[in-house]
Amino acid sequence: MRKNIKVFKFGGASVKDADAIRNVASILKDYKKERLLVVVSAMGKTTNALEKVVHAFFDKKENAKDLLKQIEIEHLEISKELFGENLDYEKEVSKFVAPVNKLLQKEAIKGYDYIYDQVVSLGELLSTKLITTFLSSEKLPNYWLDARKIIKTDNTYREGNVNWKSTQKNVSRNVNSLLDVNGFVITQGFIGSSEEKATITLGREGSDFTAAIFSFCLDAESMSIWKDVPGILTGDPCLFKKVEKIDRLSYKEAIEMTYYGAKVIHPKTIKPLQNKTIPMYVKSFVDPAGEGTFIGADVDTFYPPVVVVEKDQVMLQISTKDFSFVAEHHLSFIFTLFTRYRTKVNMMQNTAISFSVCVTVKDLDRLTKLIQELKETFNVVVEKHLELVTIRHYHKSVIEQMKKHKIVMLEERIRQTIQMVMKDVPVMERK
Ligand code: ASP
Repeated sequence: MRKNIKVFKFGGASVKDADAIRNVASILKDYKKERLLVVVSAMGKTTNALEKVVHAFFDKKENAKDLLKQIEIEHLEISKELFGENLDYEKEVSKFVAPVNKLLQKEAIKGYDYIYDQVVSLGELLSTKLITTFLSSEKLPNYWLDARKIIKTDNTYREGNVNWKSTQKNVSRNVNSLLDVNGFVITQGFIGSSEEKATITLGREGSDFTAAIFSFCLDAESMSIWKDVPGILTGDPCLFKKVEKIDRLSYKEAIEMTYYGAKVIHPKTIKPLQNKTIPMYVKSFVDPAGEGTFIGADVDTFYPPVVVVEKDQVMLQISTKDFSFVAEHHLSFIFTLFTRYRTKVNMMQNTAISFSVCVTVKDLDRLTKLIQELKETFNVVVEKHLELVTIRHYHKSVIEQMKKHKIVMLEERIRQTIQMVMKDVPVMERK
């Protein structure tokens, strides 16, 4: 049965500095009487900074610990701005930083992905402690919840698969009661833990998904994601001059958009909400009174063209070494490799003599290894620096605009969607 619980998610931009955190507190003040669980990401670009610590450590650079120290100092500085010297917060910071420092002192025995999760999860732990302490100093009762005790995953470091059964059990046993007595419950996005109690992250930008997991398990009345945009837009405002807000979206449309790479919501977020018909809102933390975008069931509307641009694309043109046709057993082998190297195929096309796929360069190291292994069996032509443009509800004029000064390498139209892998037309200057 639906309970009167709301779930909010605040991303990195909404907690990027002291003023931003004050703004979050002022939004929360309006919900003092609600049963509210708040999922928070790491501050600003902290996750990227922590990734640099991991890279430095594995590159055997001396500065890994200095980079970590810098992150610690930044949090302490912001804490001073928010609530002055606070020994309790400082102690909490040391408690979380110490084991990471210890890890960085030793040789890595457990591999990159394991170390990554233990280090990078620090961002959410520090930000939520900061917010909890600030809310308390503002007389807003709240409870800090360690998401790792609730969200259980398998052992897939950096992309944990949620064990829904144990997560549900933990939520029912522990979180419902907290919401009854303790004011807001503040918890971390992006992190969970395995049965062996190692910290596991859910994939970059995974905090939206965390909020959806909690919403599902709590039977929440609604879930809201607070962003620096007025709602879901028809394109990325950093790339296009004129974009419009979409007022209402069906779950299906939202799933399609995020599947094609719309960055505004993490792709795994919508399904759990749809399964329980939990309405979702994308709202602006700059204009909290604004209506934002509603995502839910029974939305029957006319959608404008929506453009999603994914940069950092690579096209692999795979053909057999003996010039035979690319047959089913080849494809099956190729896909086994893609699965092993956790590489998602964005678009593909099969012709008699070659099989072309477009993938995102998410992890260069993994992609390089995948290509090396493919090359042992096939001829592989690699085309880099491409972009993938997807237009939902396309219109001829929008397609023409997107194609301007571009060469289309792959194109596919399925019902209301067109996808094009493109590269820039080389500049030819006359002498
Ligand atoms: N902090 C993590 C990231 O930047 C997760 C998130 O913000 O959703 O990817």
